[in-house]
Amino acid sequence: MSKKQQVENLAARHEKTILDVSARIWEFAEPGMKEYKSADCYAQVLRDNGFAVETGVSGILTAVIGTWGSGRPVIGFLGEFDALPGLSQKAACPEHCELVPGAYGQGCGHNNLGAGALGAAFILRDYLKETGKSGTVRFYGCPGEEYGSGKVFMARDGLFSDLDACLTWHPSDNNHVVGTGSLANISAFFIFHGRTAHAAATPHLGRSALDACELMSVGVNYMREHMPSEARVHYAYNNAGGIAPNVVQDYACVHYFIRSPKIEEAQALYERVKKVAQGAALMTETELEVQFHEALCDFLPNRTLDAVCQKAFEEIGAPPFDEQDEKLAARFRATFSQEDIESVGKDIAAMGGDSALIPESETLHRSVLPYFPLDKCMGGSTDVGDASYCAPTSQLNIATCALGTPGHSWQLTAQSNSPLAEKGTMTAAKVMALAAAELLDQPETLAQAKRELNAKTGGVYHCPIPPEVGPTL
Ligand SMILES: [Zn+2]
Repeated sequence: MSKKQQVENLAARHEKTILDVSARIWEFAEPGMKEYKSADCYAQVLRDNGFAVETGVSGILTAVIGTWGSGRPVIGFLGEFDALPGLSQKAACPEHCELVPGAYGQGCGHNNLGAGALGAAFILRDYLKETGKSGTVRFYGCPGEEYGSGKVFMARDGLFSDLDACLTWHPSDNNHVVGTGSLANISAFFIFHGRTAHAAATPHLGRSALDACELMSVGVNYMREHMPSEARVHYAYNNAGGIAPNVVQDYACVHYFIRSPKIEEAQALYERVKKVAQGAALMTETELEVQFHEALCDFLPNRTLDAVCQKAFEEIGAPPFDEQDEKLAARFRATFSQEDIESVGKDIAAMGGDSALIPESETLHRSVLPYFPLDKCMGGSTDVGDASYCAPTSQLNIATCALGTPGHSWQLTAQSNSPLAEKGTMTAAKVMALAAAELLDQPETLAQAKRELNAKTGGVYHCPIPPEVGPTL
């Protein structure tokens, strides 16, 4: 029997469990770092399947690791499970239908992501059992991808460092192995302390913290001309110091994200932003307090592992969508903007691919794109980046929704608990398991993947979060 056939058979054995976990995590839809029910669910299912389970790792209650087997290679699968605020939505419903107003929803498909990674771990475990080969399977339940950066704390504790290969995927509207990097990100709060006063009677006695925030933003906006063009700086007022115009604000806080294609560049930019903030404090005679919040590294694609994943993906093929799926996807697509639909081809082109590979007339992506290795960074950030500095890592995007589905939307939430996502999730489990099964027989490929990583990092990982900063729980 071919490896592919063996993986398909084992996947069928675990299909019910995988899809059940996915549906349950979708229902739980918990916030980042507070995924209590979801983490319990993973711990329980892992135990039921004979994995040794550690919970509460890296000081995060909802971080879970399941391990099975012994010896090398050690292959890890990364799962996520957190949800997003304001995206509660009726499952599989192509009309905006909020279930619980303001509640969280799986708007990034992390219920699929976690369940697919878990499925790959179960399939690989059975494959090891059946073949008697040596190897260790590890499933990482990583909390707080949207908020909290769980993987960075896990990376800081060396939890990925003994992996020979680290595999993960993300729900998407199309099928490809991710050959591009992502932006490193630093998040910090800039807090200004001033002195309050009656804004009309004694304005000369006041020192405005809000003025300081505004001057800081003016300074940062002037800095934009003189920073690397792919860097991104954005901010939001966390606390504008109250709602009364006739009171001088003695407290204000602005939250900054500072992103760049490489973590060192983001760190250098962060130092410059801090200087701008100091300048604003000087101008306004306020006191500046900088609170480092969290940070994550850029993603390092591993070309060696990517080649193995690409081959496995082509062998298993795209999710087997049928006519019914096409009909459901078409109803979702009717709710997208023309820009959303056009963005699919544009994104492919930006990654160095051929946009003609996904014609605008298609509703669901039913093939696997060729690999586009690009030494360039796509927008957005992920804490998979930190895992990718610690161990050779490969990431796949697998279709779970209609082409053009906007990220972090009610449409994605609805589709993440639908037949579309079920097919994508099972495909993810199979592709990652098949790639891992191939790697068991390819020690030289694993050694090459490690050499490739070391050439990029010098063999060291510097966690961008200082040791004194703990997870935001
Ligand atoms: Zn996500």
